[in-house]
Amino acid sequence: MTTVSERAAYVLAPNPGVMTLDGTNTYVLRERDGARSVVVDPGPLDEHHLARVLELAGDVALVLVTHHHADHTEAVPRFAELTGAPTRAVSPEHCVGAEPLADGEVLDVDGLTIQVLHTPGHTADSACFLLPAEDVLLSGDTILGRGTTIVAHPDGRLGPYLDSLRAVQELVVTGHVERILPAHGPVIDDPATVVDFYLTHREERLEQVRQAVAAGAVTPQDVVERVYADVDRALWPAAERSVAAQLEHLRQS
Ligand SMILES: [Zn+2]
Repeated sequence: MTTVSERAAYVLAPNPGVMTLDGTNTYVLRERDGARSVVVDPGPLDEHHLARVLELAGDVALVLVTHHHADHTEAVPRFAELTGAPTRAVSPEHCVGAEPLADGEVLDVDGLTIQVLHTPGHTADSACFLLPAEDVLLSGDTILGRGTTIVAHPDGRLGPYLDSLRAVQELVVTGHVERILPAHGPVIDDPATVVDFYLTHREERLEQVRQAVAAGAVTPQDVVERVYADVDRALWPAAERSVAAQLEHLRQS
């Protein structure tokens, strides 16, 4: 268990990998002296992990999901069974006994305020959660604690992703976000630098893809071989999905 702030802590799930970094961070949020907690992303279906989350969470009022990928949602049905708490996500199929989340919605759980931001791009259903009391943003996989994330084409799309990054940047610039709590990797203490890096990185990659296409690359695989030559081959299948999203974006712009 890692304490992040007065109102947030997380349990790291035992599912490390090339896409999940050290594993999925399952966050537990609670107002100071609040009776009940909110759990974000129950994570993979691992009974030991869920037991550790429950130990930290105590009485759970609500479960939130940042997006539908299995490393965040596989344990949702089991965790709903264990806690009896409703689960809310942007996509209706990952809700349990509750309505889908809406962009801009403000939740109040035993005094804890959580603002919902729909931030499509990594996936169509990606959401971030803002805790105004602490100026922290739970970013799901929209921004990771290390490296960059993928745009999981065709569900994920680059245009909306850039818009989502700019929306987060606006919150950082206006002082509403001072730390970012990602679903994978360590807490980000310097969000301005990281969000700038994400936007610059996407623009650079897009330019590289544009040049690769001009040089004759046709398929995502062709592009990956040219543009991602410096990247670990284990990440190439994921890179192909990001490239597909970039090719779509270039066709449309
Ligand atoms: Zn993930």
